[in-house]
Formats: sequence, structure tokens, C-alpha cells
Amino acid sequence: MAPCVFLDRDGVLNEDRVDYVYRMENLVIPEGVVDALRQLKQRGYLLIVVTNQSGIAKGLYGRSAVRAIHEHLQLLSGNALDALYFCPYHPGYDTESLRRKPDSLMLEQAIARYDIDVARSWMVGDAERDVLAGKRAGVRTVQVTENADSLAEKTVANLREAAEYILKTGIV
Ligand SMILES: [Mg+2]
Repeated sequence: MAPCVFLDRDGVLNEDRVDYVYRMENLVIPEGVVDALRQLKQRGYLLIVVTNQSGIAKGLYGRSAVRAIHEHLQLLSGNALDALYFCPYHPGYDTESLRRKPDSLMLEQAIARYDIDVARSWMVGDAERDVLAGKRAGVRTVQVTENADSLAEKTVANLREAAEYILKTGIV
């Protein structure tokens, strides 16, 4: 069984925007992200993105735009990502879904598909719903936030710091 680092996308792998990231020119990867992914990968972690993309439910963009962004993320990260899961639904626009964080079905699907060792795995996200999804799936949690009252095991400023913490305290 393999350990995995589940990664939220917007606000972790790339800079977030209030009006959603679906155009290539708005995909901004902070310095240190690609390096952090490489280090986690070298240590033996699967890297799986789990991202809510309710902009699809809202009719702002289509699945092909999400796929194009994900292909570009793969290119920039040297194909470091093992899988990218996204949830297009939103209860206010089309339907509820257990895939949508804070529910954890995206993680659970990946856990089953990739034979992931939950006890040695992590969720890194910038929102509370990422932390909640991680906890529901039973993995350890790191939140990228300046908010001190996080529910996560550890708070950090960015993915580089998250990776440092995981590499220091994780059991592979
Ligand atoms: Mg986010």
C-alpha cells in the first residue's frame, strides 16, 4: 500500500482567484511548488489532486477548461501528479454530491483505486472544507492559512512548508 498526499488545487498548487481559475493566463504557480511536489514524490508519496470546481455547475466554464489547466499543471510539474479528481457539482446550481469537499468521496475513490495507506497519508488544503474532507477520509491534515484556529494538525504558509512538515513527521 502506498502513502499519498492529497492536494487541493486553488490556493495550494496555484494562486487562487475569487472569479475562479479556468483560463491558462490565470494559472500562476508560486515558487517552491514544483520543488515541493518533486520532494514528496521522491519520498514515495502518491500525489493526487482533489478539487471542487463548482464553476462548472454555475456555467462559468466547462470540463475541457479544467482538463486543459490540469494538463498544464502536469507539464509544469514534470508529470509529478498521479491523478487529478475534480467535482463539478454545487447543491445550489445542480445537485449535491458526496464528491464535493467537505465530503470525502473523491479521496475515498482514490484510496480504493490506488490502494492507498490512509494512516500514512495526508491532505493539504487552504480551506476548512479541505481539512474536513481529509479528516473524514482518515488522513492527517495540513492547512495553508494564516488563520490560527485551524482544525488541521499543522498550519503553514505555503506548499513548500507543508512538504517540509510532511517529510519531517510523516512515516513512509
Ligand atoms: Mg483551495
